[in-house]
This record gives sequence, C-alpha cells and structure tokens, in this order.
Amino acid sequence: MKEFLEKLTDLLASIFGDGRRRRPIPQRPPELPPAPPPPPIADPDEPQDSSDVDPDDGVVISHESEPTDTDEENPEFEDNPAPPPTDDEPPIELDDNGGSVPTPPHPEHIARYVWCLDPGHGSKTAGKRSPKLADGERLMEYKFNRDILGRITNQLDLLGIRYYVTVPETDVGNFLQERVNRANRLSVNIPKIFVSIHCNAGPARSINDWTDDNVRGIETWHFHRSTKGKKIAGIFQRHLIEQTGFRNRHLRSKVTGQFYVLRATRMPAILTESGFFNNRFEVIELMKDSVRQKIADAHVLAIQEIERNGL
Ligand SMILES: [Zn+2]
Repeated sequence: MKEFLEKLTDLLASIFGDGRRRRPIPQRPPELPPAPPPPPIADPDEPQDSSDVDPDDGVVISHESEPTDTDEENPEFEDNPAPPPTDDEPPIELDDNGGSVPTPPHPEHIARYVWCLDPGHGSKTAGKRSPKLADGERLMEYKFNRDILGRITNQLDLLGIRYYVTVPETDVGNFLQERVNRANRLSVNIPKIFVSIHCNAGPARSINDWTDDNVRGIETWHFHRSTKGKKIAGIFQRHLIEQTGFRNRHLRSKVTGQFYVLRATRMPAILTESGFFNNRFEVIELMKDSVRQKIADAHVLAIQEIERNGL
C-alpha cells in the first residue's frame, strides 16, 4: 500500500509538479527603456523667479576686469591659517582696524577660529536701498548690514569669540577687493572664516519700485567647491530660518559669476542674504528692532555652534 501511494505520488508529481518545482516563469516582455524622470515638482516655498542673485551684486561682479578663470579659484588655506601675504603689503594683526579684545572673555572659551565679519557695501554704493516707506524713509542696505554686525559683535565680545571687522569705515563703495584683501592679509594663528552680511533685492523695474510680493525670504551663499563653506552656510541658514521664521530660500551657489568675496577669499567664506529690502512687506520686518536682533542672534548661534563643534 505504501509503495502504491509513493508511486501514485510520483505519478501525480510528474503530471502536476510536486510543489517544489517552480512553474516556468512566463517570459517577461523585453525591458523597456527606463521611464524619464518625472518633471520636477515646484517647491511651493521656492519662488519661481530669477531673484536668486542680488542684481546689483551681480552687476558688480560682471563688470570686474579680472580674467574669467578666477571663477575657479578656491584658495582655502585651511591647514595653513596664516599664509604669508603674496604681495608687498604687510600682514594685518588682529587688533588693527577693528579686531576684538574680548571684554570680559568667557572663562571656558578657547577660540577655534577668527571670524572675518564683512558688512557688505558702504554709503557710496549705488542703489542698495529700498523704495520709500510710508514714513518717507528708506532702508539703506549698508546701514542695515552694519546694524546687524554691531549686534553680532556686542555678543561676540561677551562670549570671548575672536573676530575681525573687514570694513569698519562706512564711507566706501562696494570696496570688494579691499575687504577681501584685508581678510586675506589678517595674520592669526588659528583658521579664519569669512562671513559677509547682506540683505537682498529682487527684480524690480527701478530702484523706486517694489519687487514681486512673492520674492522674499533668506538664503545663504557659499563657494561651489568648498565643502567647509557649504557646511558653514547650512548652519547659518538653519539658525536664520529658526530665529526669524522667514521663508527658507535655502543654500545658493553657482559655478561662474560667483560673488567676489566668496571666490577671492583664502578661507571658507559665506554670504548671508537676510530678507528682501525691496519686498514691500518684508522691509517692514527688516526695519524692526526685534527682527534685526533675531537675525543677529542667528548669526551668533551659528558662530557658537561652529566654535563648539568645529567643522
Ligand atoms: Zn548686498
């Protein structure tokens, strides 16, 4: 009987398969070429406009007479924080020209970096001001940048964080080469980081017109081939958005036509654009003492985070 059952089982298995044998897999149709990627979905937070470049800054760069190959400079002397000056100009010591003597120094703080703080523009910079506000005033970008800078350095003094102000004077124009030159010549025994402080302008018909209401928010720029610069920019951008609640326009960089202060500085460098002074709603915020303090606080929090953790 057992033998019969085994034979029967074998017979059935030979006809129907024994369950362990796989049925032949139906032939699949020939592989189709991979589907093209779906079209990018517009980020509702990302204005679809061309306002990612401060237009006047862009003009300044495009008018420079340097050869275009300087776009590819990336001279970060991070492991050699005090390179000798390449020309006959003497090195700048930290306490010259706006350097900090912390008063009182934070007892536990050991400085990791010297922060080259750069207030963008000067009183002789053309443009860089808002249309007239209701009270007839205008936001002047160089004043805004210096106000933020002062709020930052007040806190850095208390924290004992070392910094150098590239352009303490106000009666200058864009002064691009000199502000970079000073930071590069600064002779210190620890690495330097360059932070240029700005607010932004979107496209507008003229200096007396507002940009589109949707052009608003904060963005931080870094040199495209600098991983440290990108990391620093990310930390600043995060704190700026957390503190202000402004729209996040994320990190920005470009391969050519990069801001001079990002490509000519011999150290990791970033540039913050904290809001649009020619957005008729955002400029009201940028004129507020409380908002300016939040923008400055964000810069200080980012500096403290990097001082604490390193790069
Ligand atoms: Zn600017």
